[in-house]
Amino acid sequence: MVNLLQFDRNALGDWCEQQGEKAFRATQLFRWIHQRGEPDFSAMSDLARPFRDKLIGAAEVTGLAIASEQVALDGTIKWLFDVGHGDAVETVFIPEPGRGTLCISSQAGCAVNCRFCATGHQGFSRNLTTAEIVAQLWHAEFALRRRLGLAAGERAITNVVMMGMGEPLQNYGALLPALRTLLDDHGYGLSRRRVTVSTSGVVPMIDRLREDCPVALAVSLHAPDDALRDELVPLNRKYPIAELLDASRRYLERAPRDFITFEYCMLDGVNDSPAQAEALLALVRGDAGAGRPGVPCKINLIPFNPFAASGLKRSAPARIAAFAAVLQEGGIVTTIRKTRGDDIAAACGQLAGEVQDRTRVAERRARAAPVRVAPPTSRRSAAVGAGPGPRA
Ligand code: SAH
Ligand code: SF4
Repeated sequence: MVNLLQFDRNALGDWCEQQGEKAFRATQLFRWIHQRGEPDFSAMSDLARPFRDKLIGAAEVTGLAIASEQVALDGTIKWLFDVGHGDAVETVFIPEPGRGTLCISSQAGCAVNCRFCATGHQGFSRNLTTAEIVAQLWHAEFALRRRLGLAAGERAITNVVMMGMGEPLQNYGALLPALRTLLDDHGYGLSRRRVTVSTSGVVPMIDRLREDCPVALAVSLHAPDDALRDELVPLNRKYPIAELLDASRRYLERAPRDFITFEYCMLDGVNDSPAQAEALLALVRGDAGAGRPGVPCKINLIPFNPFAASGLKRSAPARIAAFAAVLQEGGIVTTIRKTRGDDIAAACGQLAGEVQDRTRVAERRARAAPVRVAPPTSRRSAAVGAGPGPRA
């Protein structure tokens, strides 16, 4: 049985043709699935009966198994979905006046292994399929429509951010058809500026996304220099900051907005000093005289959401405000992210599901050296100083 949530509309057309149906039937079917949330082929009244019968024998529309649902005091909802074999992923709905944002996972666990991230801590288990990525929205949208009593055509979810568990650009093959389904006018009809892919910096895939489906892009920067970023976001050793900023600039040529969002997780005594704010400002503004262009951007400071195993602390509010002030005075639009869903551990970086640790990251963590407080001045000193832990 093929799960039709796996297909974008083109692929569904191909599949329909393989079943001996006209490809345009796929559009009707696609609308039943993604605009009306209908999983039951026999209820799809405007499809010819022989086609419905064929569908019943050959396909299914199957969502994810819900392991739990929690509602926070501020209205944030977190679903934990069981994706089998001991893996679970989380999806978070964040209601705000005039909009509803859904934060979606792309992988069970994550291989990037950022020091401050609960998902990274548990290691990588597996990529989600397109169906599993889309099913998070499919479930949330129609569950919320029912719950909120929305009229036909009204949307519960107006924005989607790929900021849940996993690195979306390390699961590109599954991500792309999912994005296309989100954007499709016969699907969820979200505009490209209302869909955001957040990445820790997979440079070649930023270029691919630019060609294939340039939605809004958020880049998780977290450090103003390579030595510190090497430690916080190990992928930086492969794609250092200069390459990441070049890719961000290239992306802007096709992006739906004329800025990149840089995310910066505020870690007490690690990356939050006034000098580091100045360094970050210099980085994104560039230096025309030195032939180093800047990147048009907004900066989103995320107060670190602590979890026991990280050994890291959140920067004090005054420290975050001072950091923001340096950037703002330098002319960069800077926001401090409000933490939502704190009481149900639904905030950024707290999503851990119950993914099996197949990579023994926990053991490696236990041996890891703490993150250095003062950033070293060169990449070499970082390589010498960081110890065997997270580099292993
Ligand atoms: N893998 C992608 C998207 C998922 S993480 C990425 O890294 O961009 C989404 C955002 O949450 C990223 O900016 C990430 O750096 C941030 N984040 C991770 N752990 C966090 C934590 N403990 N506290 C605050 N933000 C965190
Ligand atoms: Fe993966 Fe993003 Fe967490 Fe880093 S912050 S470990 S890239 S999910």
